[in-house]
Amino acid sequence: MCSSQTADNHVQHLLTTDKIIRATAFDHAVRAFACCSTQVCQEAVWLHNLSPIAAAALGRLMTGLLMLAEDLDKPGDSLSAIVRADGPLGGLTVVAEQNATVRGMVQQPVVETGHRSNGKLDVGAAVGKGTLTIIRDLQLKEPYVGRVALVSGEIAEDLASYLAVSEQIPSIVSLGVKMTAQGITHAGGLMVQLMPEADTKIVEYLEEQVRRFPETTTLLEQGATPEDMLRLLLGETLQIHTERPCAYACPCSHERMVKNLIAMGQTELSQLAEDSEGIELQCHFCSKQYHFSQREVGQLITVAQKR
Ligand SMILES: [Zn+2]
Repeated sequence: MCSSQTADNHVQHLLTTDKIIRATAFDHAVRAFACCSTQVCQEAVWLHNLSPIAAAALGRLMTGLLMLAEDLDKPGDSLSAIVRADGPLGGLTVVAEQNATVRGMVQQPVVETGHRSNGKLDVGAAVGKGTLTIIRDLQLKEPYVGRVALVSGEIAEDLASYLAVSEQIPSIVSLGVKMTAQGITHAGGLMVQLMPEADTKIVEYLEEQVRRFPETTTLLEQGATPEDMLRLLLGETLQIHTERPCAYACPCSHERMVKNLIAMGQTELSQLAEDSEGIELQCHFCSKQYHFSQREVGQLITVAQKR
């Protein structure tokens, strides 16, 4: 059993080009992350039937969260991003885990595509005005929660604003999802965080670099790896600390659904128990279906009563 699982993982790693790296530069005055997330984004489109603008918004947020989650220490730690906004997408939810997996959903997956004057998808208009909440669950009593107003709804700027306002870390965030009529061809991003040791010289150097830096999807299209992108931006002082594959994955299970049902409480469960066919639940993140018979729902009411 163990050896076949290892073999499966090995095959999975050979097939995936998606990966994420964690690095420092300028003698640790700068922390940096870069990610190729093409397959992650393709998987989300396939699972949720996303229209292009929904795919761009969710893909950017998933890519950003994968990089932010590189700070998580323990297995089971997770980071959630919730965008509540008034645009046609109706909000987004993304959860990234310590093991470099991510999952996400868009409230309204099919939204008409709008373009900005430069020909790019108008993600900001589709997201709208609202808030970005980041929940850092380190499996302690209470999770850490930070909330900022959306700057533009373009996601990269919003994540940079979250880092600056909520965590006092000046950052550069670049996220991209490139599409053709056939679907997503390239997705990825990079994130550079300035530590207090970063002096004016480093800041000026980075400002100059960013001004003429190509889009991440252009670099990925040209065959650049996440490491190549960071080396181009940060130069020779770059030091890579970790590199690992990342993937779209959902940890939902029958047990988790049972917990959710019990948490609904006796009254709601009693209403659900009226259906002789039982109930069908679908996971929002991976669309997996879970069936509970009328008898099982009845048993859960007994458990809920005891709480
Ligand atoms: Zn699921």
